[in-house]
Amino acid sequence: MAEKPTAVIYSGRFLDHKTGVHCEAPSRLKIAMETLQNPELKASGKFTVIEPRLASKEEIALVHSVDYIEEVRSFCARGGGYYDGDTPLSPESFEVASLAVGGLLEACEKVFSGDISNAFALVRPPGHHAGIHGRALGALTNGFCVFNNVAAATAYAAKKGWARRSLIFDFDTHHGNGTQEIFNSDAQVLYLSLHQRGIYPGTGYEDEIGVGAGRGFKVNVPLPARSDDEVYLKVLGEIVEPVAEQFKPELILLSAGYDAHHSDIVGGMFLSAEGFAKMVESMVKLARKSCGGKLLACLEGGYSAQALSQGIASSLAAMAGISLSLRDHAPRSPSHVQSAAAQVIRKVKDNLGSYWSL
Ligand SMILES: [Zn+2]
Repeated sequence: MAEKPTAVIYSGRFLDHKTGVHCEAPSRLKIAMETLQNPELKASGKFTVIEPRLASKEEIALVHSVDYIEEVRSFCARGGGYYDGDTPLSPESFEVASLAVGGLLEACEKVFSGDISNAFALVRPPGHHAGIHGRALGALTNGFCVFNNVAAATAYAAKKGWARRSLIFDFDTHHGNGTQEIFNSDAQVLYLSLHQRGIYPGTGYEDEIGVGAGRGFKVNVPLPARSDDEVYLKVLGEIVEPVAEQFKPELILLSAGYDAHHSDIVGGMFLSAEGFAKMVESMVKLARKSCGGKLLACLEGGYSAQALSQGIASSLAAMAGISLSLRDHAPRSPSHVQSAAAQVIRKVKDNLGSYWSL
């Protein structure tokens, strides 16, 4: 039997979420889609592009309040504008955001029906800052996000009875405050986030481990600026992999942001294409071991052309099991950054020691 393809979920409609002069621009997805022209990816024949469907309001309401959904709809219907200080919406944005959610739901359906091996949804607007009512956990803005695509797919898979326990691994350079808020008291959703300390949205510290029944199931690793591949891989090996293996997920979702790439104009981290590939490879491996390979990746941030093209190409390669010859030389972390990161790792382990064997 031929190996099943890795799906890329994409629609030209995603370019109709118009943001004006803004780093979260339609051109990001053009760069993202061009990665499929990489000769090694193309020659593999392992990718198939799937058009997304629209998510219904009921489906979006799996993770957002009906009031918030209606507020976004009417804001766009009135012509759009700046929804908050960071987040521009155009008249089409409500529908485009519904299509982004639908892309994830469709990817979810196809992974569980066995049509595809895994999927990367190249969607916009991004989603991980969007909480139940939009702005989450005290953040001042939606941070370019409208609906939480990854959270919707997680809730959808649970509602359908396909996956009770889901793991969300978020390597965007910003903390996914929306995702954390939505699942904060939920022990069935393990949220693991590696992000840059002290920047927007101002959450994701070591002591944020979930609330009520969800305690121990939110793992935040707020790393110092200029953390490099070595730092990230240390966190991966010492925290992410052991916790994820003990959790035994039935579905793995990646909030795949590339603004931690060393070239990015928004983030201040030093990750290289190889660093992203190693993190994705690790999750692909765990998915094979734990849930028949079921993995959905969703584009979050990433704003420089190099961050997007190299980050996405290396992630797609990892998902399809191809080795890619990308040359990407990132700077290394200075020693004081390495020791600050080591302290963060220690603190995270101390806070989670009674929940996981670390
Ligand atoms: Zn980000």
